[in-house]
Amino acid sequence: MAGRLGRGADQPGFRVEFNSALGPYKGGLRFHPSVNLGIVKFLGFEQVFKNALTGMPIGGGKGGSDFDPKGRSDAEIMRFCQSFMTELYRHIGEYTDVPAGDIGVGAREIGYLFGQYKRITNRYESGVLTGKGLGWGGALVRTEATGYGAAFFAQAMMDTAGDSFDGKRAVVSGSGNVAVYGIEKIHQLGGMAVACSDSSGYVVDEKGIDLDLLKQVKEVERGRIELYAERRGSARFVAGGSVWDVPCEVAVPSATQNELDGDAAKVLAANGCRYVVEGANMPSTPEAVDVFRAAGVAFAPGKAANAGGVATSALEMQQNASRDRWTFEHSEAKLEEIMRGIHTRCHQTAEEYGAPGDLVLGANVAGFLEVAEAVHAHGLI
Ligand code: GLU
Repeated sequence: MAGRLGRGADQPGFRVEFNSALGPYKGGLRFHPSVNLGIVKFLGFEQVFKNALTGMPIGGGKGGSDFDPKGRSDAEIMRFCQSFMTELYRHIGEYTDVPAGDIGVGAREIGYLFGQYKRITNRYESGVLTGKGLGWGGALVRTEATGYGAAFFAQAMMDTAGDSFDGKRAVVSGSGNVAVYGIEKIHQLGGMAVACSDSSGYVVDEKGIDLDLLKQVKEVERGRIELYAERRGSARFVAGGSVWDVPCEVAVPSATQNELDGDAAKVLAANGCRYVVEGANMPSTPEAVDVFRAAGVAFAPGKAANAGGVATSALEMQQNASRDRWTFEHSEAKLEEIMRGIHTRCHQTAEEYGAPGDLVLGANVAGFLEVAEAVHAHGLI
């Protein structure tokens, strides 16, 4: 199924079910004004291979709407989610297609979507959605998973290079879920994130981003990043501009697709950046990736580095299926193991295919082979 949800609605909704060779279609829902069918297809396509790389039994899909949640009341968000699910429910199911969150869709929206699914189907089908609230089937570490996973992936790259996060300056674009928890884990691993951003501009904080304040501004108040700089003496806000102008050794683009272009890549490389680890889905343009390659900057594509989110969704599905609930420590240890496993596979595949160190090639080839072998085994139609 690929296409619009509902007829005659003024707000189009989409779900693209791309490939189910390895498991039920799996991927997030995005609510953002930029969403259209082309973007959902690109994200769904990437998701197929990302999910394969996790080694978990999940196929690939993606969905969303150009609905803009910015400035909407809770009640408006709830009504939109209910309306969206009123069409979506007939296409999904724990063995068919399992949506989750993405930009603009977090635990609050998953709650409204789940409630409507339950209302319509009369089924408490926990495994139909992931990213659920902790009190009703959600999994510990799911909220943190994409950001933590990207930091674990970066650590695995550094280990391979005989290096570590110790004292490294990082710039993390965005200030949503991926960015906030990416920064948290970078700090725990010994690095220091000095800048983050939103669509209005970026903040630089030479003392390191204060996570409690960032969470207060972005998660509790749902405010603009400028508020962070207003409340923190060591920080300054730069309206507009590029967060990639801030010198760093580690860059973690965690906002959205195509946010880091060739020019930004040149600035990063000239400023001594050594690792670029994609927290978002394809934030670097092809020109940027070429610049990194030529400059010898180690680069991790999103389909490998940000797979921790969907991998932890698969762990949530496991817990739901066995009506179990794992501890934070156990879940985080699993996540770290999965991220290290993805890095090893990408690294080894790149070597095997004659491109040592090329994690883009490694991820694409390893993900493709996994899916292709299953498609082949299931026979042609
Ligand atoms: N939206 C996330 C991604 O891009 C998570 C998807 C999921 O958990 O199903 O991978």
